[in-house]
Amino acid sequence: GAWIGILGGGQLGRMLSVAASRLGYRCHVYEPGAAPAGDVAARLTTAAYDDEAAIRAFAGSVDVVTYEFENVPTSALDLIESLAPIRPGRRALAVSQDRLTEKDFLSSLGLAVAPYAAIDSAADLAAALRGPSILKTRRLGYDGKGQLRLAAGDDPAAAWAQVNAPAVLEGFVDFSAEISVIVARGADGAVAAYDPGLNVHRDGILRTTTVPAKVPGRLIPEAVLLASRIVTALDYVGVMGVELFVTPQGLVVNEIAPRVHNSGHWTQGGCAVDQFEQHIRAVAGLPLGDGRRHADVVMENLIGDDMNRLPELLQAPDTQIHLYGKAEVKPGRKMGHVNRILRGQGA
Ligand code: ATP
Ligand code: MG
Ligand code: MG
Repeated sequence: GAWIGILGGGQLGRMLSVAASRLGYRCHVYEPGAAPAGDVAARLTTAAYDDEAAIRAFAGSVDVVTYEFENVPTSALDLIESLAPIRPGRRALAVSQDRLTEKDFLSSLGLAVAPYAAIDSAADLAAALRGPSILKTRRLGYDGKGQLRLAAGDDPAAAWAQVNAPAVLEGFVDFSAEISVIVARGADGAVAAYDPGLNVHRDGILRTTTVPAKVPGRLIPEAVLLASRIVTALDYVGVMGVELFVTPQGLVVNEIAPRVHNSGHWTQGGCAVDQFEQHIRAVAGLPLGDGRRHADVVMENLIGDDMNRLPELLQAPDTQIHLYGKAEVKPGRKMGHVNRILRGQGA
């Protein structure tokens, strides 16, 4: 049978490998072992992505390489690509590894993004800071890490000292809701999207995703069309998460993730073909499944001490439990998620 290589052994890689196994594939997972899954900074400081022999052995043993983690260094990607195709492709990675390139790309498609400016110094920040804003490190941020909320009059030098350069400054978007579209594009160019979910964050971390999203109905096809334009423009193959702000002026794109996405975990309980199977289908060159939803679902992340609720959650009806097998519970760490499936609902 064919082999699929997965870069990253966190929960997303784990769920991708389960889906691949179900479709009869075998997987090699490349995970810089010393770094705990989910600790992006630690993963990159390990030498694992510099280990040419290990990468060569990995990429040389598989038919296609995909990833759960978009921050794989370019040098490693170059080596991998000389041995096996990478899906989604390099363009999507290049665009999404850097918040500035990502925003430039989205703007070039005519999509609305938060007002933004490249910040390379305290002086740049002083010049750009005009009102409520968020200073974000351009690379390697996740779960709201590497971000600082600022207001006009805040000390630029002090703020600058707190984020990793280079950065972008984004105007604060006054949104009424956050939604996301999980969209897939197949090797044949076909596009399938799931129903947008409504996302609630706490402390910068996704807390719940609910489908259907209670937003004005016209926004649903708008969100799906916008996501389709993004994947088509990138000649993308795989699943992508597109995070959107709902504003009175319409949809504003927050960010894109060139991989399966936490806000798409509800599909495990709401769709015949979930986002993980969909991604494997795409990267393996199989036809996509449809994105139809057969239930209403509330996905809730189990973060840190939420794990104390496990006994009660195990008793709850219509509740699908996913645990990531992480050895240590830490505050802010995603330990698992649950999908509460509301039967008889859905599209
Ligand atoms: P993720 O874990 O989704 O990758 P991240 O660290 O990349 O997160 P963002 O998605 O950029 O961070 O921001 C995290 C959250 O902060 C957003 O979901 C949103 O709630 C809020 N936020 C980010 N940018 C803005 C903005 N320009 N205006 C208002 N709120 C924002
Ligand atoms: Mg992000
Ligand atoms: Mg985000």
